[in-house]
Amino acid sequence: MKKVIYVDNNATTIVAPEVFEAMRPFFTERYGNPSSMHAFGGEIYNNIECSREAVADLLGAGDPSEIIFTSCGTESDSTAIMSTLHSYPEKKHIITTKVEHPAVLNVYNYLETSGYRVTYLAVDSEGMIDLNELKSSIGQDTAIVSIMYANNETGVIFPIEETAEIARTRGVIFHTDAVQAVGKIPFKLTELPVDLLSLSGHKLHAPKGVGALYVRKGTRFTPFLIGGHQEHGRRGGTENVPSIVGLGVACQLAKKTIEEEMTRIKALRDKLENAILEKIPNTKVNGHPELRLPNTTNIGFEFIEGEAILLKLDEKGIAASSGSACTSGSLTPSHVLRAMGIPFTFVQGSIRFSLSRYNTGKDIDYIIENLPVIIKRLREISPYKQ
Ligand code: PLP
Repeated sequence: MKKVIYVDNNATTIVAPEVFEAMRPFFTERYGNPSSMHAFGGEIYNNIECSREAVADLLGAGDPSEIIFTSCGTESDSTAIMSTLHSYPEKKHIITTKVEHPAVLNVYNYLETSGYRVTYLAVDSEGMIDLNELKSSIGQDTAIVSIMYANNETGVIFPIEETAEIARTRGVIFHTDAVQAVGKIPFKLTELPVDLLSLSGHKLHAPKGVGALYVRKGTRFTPFLIGGHQEHGRRGGTENVPSIVGLGVACQLAKKTIEEEMTRIKALRDKLENAILEKIPNTKVNGHPELRLPNTTNIGFEFIEGEAILLKLDEKGIAASSGSACTSGSLTPSHVLRAMGIPFTFVQGSIRFSLSRYNTGKDIDYIIENLPVIIKRLREISPYKQ
């Protein structure tokens, strides 16, 4: 296969070689069922528990039993939301933001059709919420406040400590979708007042199809996937052992490398961003200048279609994105950028570059060399040109 400069790591990441190797025996020699009475299967239970410890360690959680393995970030989000609503049946109000991932937004849209009232907090032009709006939205019947840790399109990091504290003070359960943040920034959940936190393996070099939900000790919990006794009765279904093992190793790797790697990745991201702003006129970074994931930049190129840019980048072997992986492919403008009030001429031509520890300086140089030529050419033929 042709070499690809992959800068779409918020969509998904490569499985780390160490993760792949750690998973391999669980497809071949060690394929037993961890619930079996015999040692061939039963011993595998210990591997699941080791992974639980590794996830808890990366999150800085107080106890590994606070981690439940799921099939993906979407399942973790749905479990957090549905468990809370089931546990507080008298409460019918939900607070979230306008810029959540569809894994959260579409659940709330659905719940609005079945008797729930949802407040969607607005964001400003830098993608930030207003804490006063949050405070004034919480009422007696608010069941859950659900605010993403970091936005998948812009990388904007929300003030989770403050928002979670507001919810806690008012006695409301706080959930954060941290799918984009885990593995990219350090966590210490013993010091962060969140009750529920979702993560997904494939965003941090584990495979697709595995995720986890952190449930703080003492939080009311009702299983979403009802079935067997797995996950201490909190999530039925035979465990996806290879992927759970892979997620554990991915968390260990992230913990070991996060500080050094994220400093390096941020320097590459900043180099790319600065070069684009300097070399290409009518460009603008979407999102807060500082409060952003170190690997992400979302840049608007005025008067061009994002899809045209992506196709031209693709021809050069560069894989980037025009929004969340789920919405790219449709020509609907990003709900995140629209909520930020970004002018239409920029929204249409906004591209997300998201880096990982496998990107090099050469990758960035290659993009810097090719992108200005692509944009110049597209602007020459753009029907939107002024
Ligand atoms: N939440 C956010 C912020 C995401 O970026 C994604 C995936 O892009 C998800 C949830 C869904 O995760 P998964 O693909 O594991 O279901």
